[in-house]
Amino acid sequence: MKKVYLLAHPAGHSLSPKMHNAAFKHLGIDASYQAWDVAPEALRQALITLRQPDVYGANVTVPHKVAVFERVDTLTDAAKAIGAVNTVINDNGSLKGHNTDAEGFLKALREDASFDPQGKRAVMLGAGGSARAVAYALLRAGVAQLSIYNRTVQKAHDLEVGFRSLGPVSVLSQLELEDAVQGADLLINTTSVGMARGGVDPNQSPLKAGILPQRGLVCDLIYRPARTRLLRDAEQAGLKIQNGLAMLVYQGAESLTCWTGREAPIKTMFASARSALGETST
Ligand code: NAP
Repeated sequence: MKKVYLLAHPAGHSLSPKMHNAAFKHLGIDASYQAWDVAPEALRQALITLRQPDVYGANVTVPHKVAVFERVDTLTDAAKAIGAVNTVINDNGSLKGHNTDAEGFLKALREDASFDPQGKRAVMLGAGGSARAVAYALLRAGVAQLSIYNRTVQKAHDLEVGFRSLGPVSVLSQLELEDAVQGADLLINTTSVGMARGGVDPNQSPLKAGILPQRGLVCDLIYRPARTRLLRDAEQAGLKIQNGLAMLVYQGAESLTCWTGREAPIKTMFASARSALGETST
């Protein structure tokens, strides 16, 4: 039996084991996906395990995404641009680091929300790790403008400098935020404000009341709760909304294809992720 690990610390409440094991079963692949609590000092040994012939590879999450980026043998262009690895592929004992968050985000927009970002004006809240993947995805998809607002302004500027060769990207001051949001076709929250576990406050929105786009899609990378305060406000205002579950599923699907060469069973993965979250599968 082949193995896939999720390298995490702690390895608490991830939906990925259920989602991937359901996919392996659906595809008739003799493999198992398991979360592995790896303390930072044990990471070196864990990477040796990933080189074994019975291991397809791994997903990587907090706090190892950058440390793994620095220790694999090769990196894909996406991983290099984003500066972090969320997927490791064991290629005959050589470890390839990849990042599927950008592709996952883009597919979630296109396939699940029927939204094509090409030529659209996007405002992104946040400038952390997931923001780097979202910025990479949107600029490569040809947005007309990507405007970034972050509490710590310097991090937004760093992101702008790192990505300006890919397309039109700028940083918003607090004074500019309201106008930019109102004129946006796409608003994405990549901050942890509104997240239920380990977030700031599940009832808080990253935006002041009343500041919303006048049209288009509002997207929150958070999926616990399924409807954050931001998404509830946007829905009430008649806007289209999407939470982070679709991105989670599509980034996992892309990882599965990297490990196995097979097309991922998206419906099965959605259903198991939703049932693991306690939502009804539709
Ligand atoms: P991260 O690297 O730690 O970045 C956190 C971001 O949130 C930073 O921009 C930070 O701003 C901002 N922030 C935190 N507390 C804040 C507050 N009180 N007020 C304003 N801004 C605040 O985290 P990440 O890895 O990017 O993850 C961010 C969120 O995305 C999490 O909720 C995570 O669960 C979600 N996510 C979802 C998926 C998915 O597949 N759906 C994938 C990845 C991440 P500063 O720079 O000012 O600190």
